[in-house]
Amino acid sequence: MALEVKLLDLIDIELESSFLVLARNMGQKARAKTWGSLILGGDDPILVDTGASHPEIMQRLGMTGWISEEQQLENQLAQHGLEPKDVRYILHTHNHIDHAGQDNRFPMSTTVVMQRKELEHSVSGLMGEQYPAEYVKHHVDRLHTPGAVRLLDLELSGPIELAPRVVVEHAGGHTEGSMNILVETADGIVCICGDVIYDVQDQIVAPLYQVGEFDPQVTGNHSMRKREEKGAVVRALNSGSFVVPSHDYPARVAGGRIVSRLGTSIPGPEAPVEMRLPSETAEVVHTVDAGPDRLGSPVESPALVGS
Ligand SMILES: [Zn+2]
Ligand SMILES: [Zn+2]
Repeated sequence: MALEVKLLDLIDIELESSFLVLARNMGQKARAKTWGSLILGGDDPILVDTGASHPEIMQRLGMTGWISEEQQLENQLAQHGLEPKDVRYILHTHNHIDHAGQDNRFPMSTTVVMQRKELEHSVSGLMGEQYPAEYVKHHVDRLHTPGAVRLLDLELSGPIELAPRVVVEHAGGHTEGSMNILVETADGIVCICGDVIYDVQDQIVAPLYQVGEFDPQVTGNHSMRKREEKGAVVRALNSGSFVVPSHDYPARVAGGRIVSRLGTSIPGPEAPVEMRLPSETAEVVHTVDAGPDRLGSPVESPALVGS
């Protein structure tokens, strides 16, 4: 059976707009989704990221979080007929406050997979409360329980096939141990890229303040050098046919350009996008509409491309 990627809607977050895209609408708030991803159709269900432990924890970063009844992790899994114990692997794009908060709801027989460097980074203090102590302590408990965790050194080993048609590779960029998850679907390779990309429109389609061709705008939240973040974005865009960021809706990519946006399922309905390069427009984007938030699906209009 072909693999599919289904997005789980785990927490909505309100935060400073320039945290998501560097220098965007400074002093203004923006709202963003937070997706986990389910990889279905293989031998066992695989979950990518587990959201935040509870909405109030976002206040440690001066942000506001909301988790509705429907967004509870158990309820999101139940929409696909699953319970936590059915999940064989949890893969972490990285271990931030909004990505690794509910690992303790899964039994120790569910193996949590992360880069060893990400675990080290989470206790380095470099990103403060973005790695809550509760999460790190749970990971240490798993570290001392047989089979409860799998640590990867992808920079040294190269990409690994974790399960048939599911490959993980080093991503870097956002955090020292960020990793991409590449899923082979009937429509092509899906790159689940975590926070390597925050905002498809303002970083890539019409990148704020960028003069160069195919030069993405960086986020306002990275622990690495800007060059590494740009490289990580370009790597994700060239890893397959789709990118799935954690805080924005997925996109189809061809030749490094975004060509359509999707909703919460890959394969699934698509809405076309015209991405024009600086050489084609002779313009640089200096302002971004702060008005509409990005919580709404890009494919909820009736004029859809695809299935
Ligand atoms: Zn993050
Ligand atoms: Zn995040």
